[in-house]
Amino acid sequence: MPAIKLSPTALNLFLECRRCFWLDKVKSFKRPRGIFPSLPSGMDREIKTHFDAFRARHEMPPELAGKDFAGSSLFPDQARLDQWRDWRKGLEYKSGNGPVLSGAIDELLVKDGLYIPFDYKTKGSPTTQEDAVRYYQNQLDCYALLFQENSMPAADYGFLLYYSPKSVGENGKAVFEVQPIRIPVDYERGRRTFESAAAFLASTMPDSSPVCEYCGWIAKYKELFDKADFF
Ligand code: SF4
Repeated sequence: MPAIKLSPTALNLFLECRRCFWLDKVKSFKRPRGIFPSLPSGMDREIKTHFDAFRARHEMPPELAGKDFAGSSLFPDQARLDQWRDWRKGLEYKSGNGPVLSGAIDELLVKDGLYIPFDYKTKGSPTTQEDAVRYYQNQLDCYALLFQENSMPAADYGFLLYYSPKSVGENGKAVFEVQPIRIPVDYERGRRTFESAAAFLASTMPDSSPVCEYCGWIAKYKELFDKADFF
């Protein structure tokens, strides 16, 4: 049987709710996803194309002109980056015979022989460093672990590059604010999260959270359904 793959998104679910994570990975019972907006993936595609043009010229894009990026360069090997951008062929880390950590990266910076996790984000309004850490710390920790375990020494920091709509010009073209945010990264923290999640899959189904609205809704639904006075 192929090993279970855990992505940074799956580990976010583990950090958020053990039961949802267990149901997803052990029973293939996934949370409903709702309608997925296509704008972020369209932005993602265009930003990658934009960065790739600068990579081909061995230059940094103007968004990365600040002092935080002094001495850094875009990872130069387009063919390898294309492979790592594909979730089916992305970087992997395996410890023992258990699950595999796998991740598809957007971009990668290099400085002084260290590999710097980097991801693009699209958001409705400018963000804060606190929010960036809250939502994406685990993702960048996992990327750093994947680099470290694939013979690419990881830096202890990474970047998120946020694009948020700012205005629509006279010509009708939308203008986006671009906001690079540097956050500290720890690949050992990523390893601890991955190993805890991998070990957790061998447990029995955990209890639901008493404060989760969804599980409360399901319990109420089941109660009404069992009484057969619902339909
Ligand atoms: S408590 Fe909420 S988040 Fe956890 S399993 Fe139930 S529905 Fe999912």
